[in-house]
Amino acid sequence: MAVMETDFDAIVVGAGAVGLACGRALALRGLTIAVLEAEDAIGQGVSSRNSEVAHGGLYYPTGSLRARFCVAGRRMLYPFLDAHGVTYDKCGKLVVATDEAELPRLEAILRQARINDVEGMRWLSAAEVHALEPDLRAVAGLLSPESGIFDSHGYMVALRGEIEGRGGAVVTGTPVLGATPLGAASLDGGGFTVRTGGRDPATVTTRLLVTAPGLAAQDVAAGIEGFPADLIPQAHYGKGSYFALNGRAPFKRLVYPPPIPGALGVHYRRDLGGQARFGPDLEYVEAPDYRVDPNRADGFYRDIRRFWPGLPDGALVPDYVGVRPKIHWTGGGAARLPPGRGVGPRPAGPGGPVRHRKPGPDLLHGHRRGRGGPAGRLKKGRPPRGSRRRAGLQTVNALRARLPLNPTPTSASRAAMPLAMPKLKKALNTSPNWCDRAVTTKALRN
Ligand SMILES: Cc1cc2nc3c(=O)[nH]c(=O)nc-3n(C[C@H](O)[C@H](O)[C@H](O)COP(=O)(O)OP(=O)(O)OC[C@H]3O[C@@H](n4cnc5c(N)ncnc54)[C@H](O)[C@@H]3O)c2cc1C
Repeated sequence: MAVMETDFDAIVVGAGAVGLACGRALALRGLTIAVLEAEDAIGQGVSSRNSEVAHGGLYYPTGSLRARFCVAGRRMLYPFLDAHGVTYDKCGKLVVATDEAELPRLEAILRQARINDVEGMRWLSAAEVHALEPDLRAVAGLLSPESGIFDSHGYMVALRGEIEGRGGAVVTGTPVLGATPLGAASLDGGGFTVRTGGRDPATVTTRLLVTAPGLAAQDVAAGIEGFPADLIPQAHYGKGSYFALNGRAPFKRLVYPPPIPGALGVHYRRDLGGQARFGPDLEYVEAPDYRVDPNRADGFYRDIRRFWPGLPDGALVPDYVGVRPKIHWTGGGAARLPPGRGVGPRPAGPGGPVRHRKPGPDLLHGHRRGRGGPAGRLKKGRPPRGSRRRAGLQTVNALRARLPLNPTPTSASRAAMPLAMPKLKKALNTSPNWCDRAVTTKALRN
């Protein structure tokens, strides 16, 4: 077997929460890594359009990966956020039964939560629920004190800071177009040539290739030469709409109904700026679609009034949409077409990527500071100066506190490191630091 040097030990495709967490984990193991992101900033995909809830890990079936990783991940998350000065609120969560028929489901959730080793779970009577949240209507509830909300963009900026602090690179504006196994056409251990597009197209080699491209997972997998097509599951899209509350937040804690198939059900949360929101619901769509249909408000009023009868008429305002990449279709109707071949930036337009630089009212998401209305505008902060990680995070937090909405992550490290691939390759060749660490990998070739 011949050995071969590669530019990187590992390349990660996609700089959302998952890709950045993978990149950090690889960098912590001392590997030379690059995280390649198609968009011009990190965290612009699914990770920018969610509820920002740190889940307790209550529901997931025994032995499932979700049961293992949700609980373990949440236990690691809060100390990580503390260490990086990322804002969170461990506000706790109530899962409520609004009629007697739901009690067995609540009991089943409590049993599962205990099996999953979720800390501090408690059964609450109607009176105990009322004592915690006087305006909440429930016949019984579960309290999950470990659940909370956190600043997901601050989290991703912190992950990026750790990657770059260990010599890794997070390269934006760099879509991965495809990959070819090095040497023999083996996907197993031989390394890859990775082709990138964007302003500075390049070809680099890596021993390990990790794909975390969210909604583009099928397309990226299909772009890896030799990847077995029958291992690529069909893509389905679970659209989730949110409505914001025009008025004072009614509850301190997260409030959830028992879950529905494929989703957790329309729930309530108060974000870190105090804005109350409801959602997401679940609607299977043929392609990602980020428009909030105002007509869905009727279903929201009905669902919310089950646990909050005091919801005033006209108080819900269409807010934003997140799209869940699903490999199971639980929505009925026709299945989607198989994913297209070839990889690249997703198409623009309503079904295309989130363009936070030009958000419309339906492109806002859960990172508003203060009481900016749902139609608040995105403002980009100037990249902070000073030393990289901690100073950057502090400045980001300070900037965000001043802005009505800042979904675009900003960090000192981002200002310092949006390396185009040629620059990256030059760095590899000229910097002793980079050379020492980057070109030490031995990839095996048959
Ligand atoms: C409505 C909704 C609510 C949710 N609520 C919660 C919650 O409260 N708590 C929770 O823990 N989770 C929640 N989730 C789930 C969570 O948001 C996702 O699990 C997570 O954000 C997925 O991150 P990701 O990195 O896999 O995907 P993404 O964030 O989509 O990142 C993928 C990245 O890959 C990039 N990319 C795509 N193709 C390429 C390419 N060819 N080359 C380079 N880059 C590429 C994209 O631009 C994107 O930045 C929610 C999800 C939804 C939809």
